[in-house]
Amino acid sequence: MNYLSVGDALAEVLKHISRKAVEHVALYDSLRRVLAEDVAANRNHPPYDVSAMDGYAVRFADIETVSAENPVRLKVVDDIRAGQMPSIKVLQGRAARIMTGAPTPEGVDTVIRVEDTQEDGHDVLILTPPKQGANIRPMGENLKNEKTVLSKGTSITPGVLAILSMVKQKQVPVFAKPSVAILSTGDELEALDEPVDENKIPDANSHALYAQCKALGIEATLLGIAKDNPLQLRAKLEEGLKYDVLLASGGVSVGHHDFVRSTLDALGITMHFWRVAMRPGHPLAFGTTKQGGVVFGLPGNPVSSMVCFEEFVSPALRSMMGYEKICRRTITAKLSHDLKDRKGRAHFVRVTLSKDEQGYLATSTGTQGSGVLMSMAIAQGFVVVPEESEGLKAGDKVQVQLLQDMDFQEELGI
Ligand code: AMP
Ligand code: MG
Repeated sequence: MNYLSVGDALAEVLKHISRKAVEHVALYDSLRRVLAEDVAANRNHPPYDVSAMDGYAVRFADIETVSAENPVRLKVVDDIRAGQMPSIKVLQGRAARIMTGAPTPEGVDTVIRVEDTQEDGHDVLILTPPKQGANIRPMGENLKNEKTVLSKGTSITPGVLAILSMVKQKQVPVFAKPSVAILSTGDELEALDEPVDENKIPDANSHALYAQCKALGIEATLLGIAKDNPLQLRAKLEEGLKYDVLLASGGVSVGHHDFVRSTLDALGITMHFWRVAMRPGHPLAFGTTKQGGVVFGLPGNPVSSMVCFEEFVSPALRSMMGYEKICRRTITAKLSHDLKDRKGRAHFVRVTLSKDEQGYLATSTGTQGSGVLMSMAIAQGFVVVPEESEGLKAGDKVQVQLLQDMDFQEELGI
């Protein structure tokens, strides 16, 4: 079997992925999920024209000629608070004191900010000329009754959740999350709760993959460690195949003790590919069950396993959860140093990002060996060196996939 390009491999994965069914969850649980139905407003908001400021509601015709030297005096005939309905119409030469959010009374068309006025007994002096219609929020500016306010496919952020609350969606229709099982394989592996044995290798993949799922909002199930032993492996894989997605790491290559692919074959899994032209990351196997489940045989090296998760598993999981944007956002940056490369595989170089006057600068996290997990731990992104590239020079423009969902900096930077 030939090597697939990263793009072709992702397309092949996505061909076998379908969105999960719709479920209803409590309002707060909908955060970072995807809305599965259009949502219409069940009211107008604001329910009537309201003041956007604390000030005075006036008839523009009365104050058209206002200037600082030539203020206009109006008689204050009402005091309208938010949540209260105005009791009288404002006639010529009159004004109503009004609070932010309070309905504007009949007769007025403009609100003057309190800062642009001066109280004088029962009157108010208007000092600064406003524009006609200033400081009034029209009825339905925020929500229009029966109009769609949020469409299916919207990802639910705190702001979207606030709108859901305004239209009283205590239960929110979202796409269900896939169930995910994680299995590490290898005779040399030591579990987190086992004592340190210097001859063993601590299992990092289970935990890295668990965290990567969790960052997507998915609580995966850890199946533990399977030995490189076809019988034990078969039992563990069978258990994992009951989930929507099985992530098995290690044992997927061509070594004498790599039994993952042959065992998946024996279990009737259709394998679609197992070699991708990427670095790190090869070998990566992808298969499907007859029941519509999918299985990824991820490389054993922790960095490779994590990179494959980002490039293939994460888009698949996001697609199942209904996201339309399934791939990491990329930005353009300049390389801060030369980068050696070989032709033939796309290279995902782990980098940190900084900024100068011209924009972002990408700098390698250091040794890029696929066993050097620190290169991944401190990475803010991947520079993607295309398959055909033979290396890049300092100052070259590159695409960087951003890794952190929430990347903060010390200062505002505006
Ligand atoms: P494999 O793909 O099984 O040939 O493993 C490749 C390398 O990754 C070997 O050095 C393994 O010891 C290492 N490795 C495999 N699985 C894990 C794991 N779960 N955690 C840490 N290292 C692993
Ligand atoms: Mg192994």
